[in-house]
Amino acid sequence: MSTENLALLSREGLPLAERAGSLVGSVIDSSTSLLASMKHDIVRFAMGSPANEAVPLEEFREIADTVMGHDTFTYGATEGEPRLLSALVEYLSTTSDPTDEDRVTITAGGMQGLDLACKIFINPGDLVIVESPTYTNGSATALSYGAQLLEAPLDENGLVVEALPELVAATGRTPKAIYTIPNFQNPSGTTLSLERRELLLELAHEWNAVIIDDDPYGLLRFEGEDLPSLQALSPGDPLLFSVRTFSKILAPGLRVGWVDTHPALRQLVINAKQAMDTCTNVPAQHIVAEFIRRGRLDTHLGDLRAEYRRRRDAMQSSIRQHLGERVTTTNPEGGFFLWLTLQGADAQISTRRLFETGLAEGVAFIPGPALSAEGRFDDALRLCFATSTPERTDQGIQRLRRAMDIELAR
Ligand code: PMP
Repeated sequence: MSTENLALLSREGLPLAERAGSLVGSVIDSSTSLLASMKHDIVRFAMGSPANEAVPLEEFREIADTVMGHDTFTYGATEGEPRLLSALVEYLSTTSDPTDEDRVTITAGGMQGLDLACKIFINPGDLVIVESPTYTNGSATALSYGAQLLEAPLDENGLVVEALPELVAATGRTPKAIYTIPNFQNPSGTTLSLERRELLLELAHEWNAVIIDDDPYGLLRFEGEDLPSLQALSPGDPLLFSVRTFSKILAPGLRVGWVDTHPALRQLVINAKQAMDTCTNVPAQHIVAEFIRRGRLDTHLGDLRAEYRRRRDAMQSSIRQHLGERVTTTNPEGGFFLWLTLQGADAQISTRRLFETGLAEGVAFIPGPALSAEGRFDDALRLCFATSTPERTDQGIQRLRRAMDIELAR
């Protein structure tokens, strides 16, 4: 909500809750309708959308035909459809992020998982550590419950956990929660190292702070070795609240995800969800359940990993060819995003302004300040390499270069 709108609403005397002023919205999500309203051709590096080609549309149609019946159009159990819960837990037992059925609650995507975590743990005024840069929809959720955010730096090994004690000491407070995206972080693409995972768990216990472990991309590693999840490192840890989603591995429009918590916490999660939406979309859960039961999730993930690796390589090679020394980037081993930082003379360009020029030139990305609670990183931007084919990506990077040239000449 813009401050002008909010001022207008209070002038009209609407009895808004105090938290209404903290509902900051999402630049990332708003880009979906902004781009849809534009008539000219735009290469889409902005949203974290899976490739169209990566959504098994025909199979979803056929599965929908098979599984739809009266029991899929009635209310479902709040914790999730039993068919989905059992198929999911069985599948996860084969990964580096295993769990048990008494820990899992199916949610309306990862965003609802974040909302549940904050609703259960955050009081107004609580200190919440967030990564800098971060997925600002996640930090916005914490803000919507009145959190005060403490931005903590990232490097090529993820959140700089060893810097946290000093940062926290400077506030004179004890954090209530740590919001982290450990694998192929959104937006930087970096992964939290094993040593830092262990230290993070130690610090969380020292502070009695919950770790909101948001991991939509962990199953999309296309290079290197999987690291154990926080849960695998600290099994049964009640301070871990793990948020997962099918949005990136199947399709975001399904709105199906899950949270993985200590069984004692699960009843609270269910109670909180009952006060939100009763149950997650039942037909969508049955489509996902059937896909997993057919053994297709594993083969599908194999295909996605190969394709997203090809797309990351293609984006890196277009960046080298068209932007060369003008930028540096991270080099993610999985996931959807890389983080590009302008160098040399180009570093004076404001990526907020570059965003407007980029749109006019036919390329969309997320400017750095939209990915920082404090509006930092005006010399950086996030690119999603997953959505576009290598040919489209090359076109998009050339358009980005043109936009940079225009901004540099201003
Ligand atoms: N967390 C992170 C880090 C994400 O990147 C996303 C999706 N962009 C989400 C949560 C939200 O996932 P969903 O679309 O399933 O709500």
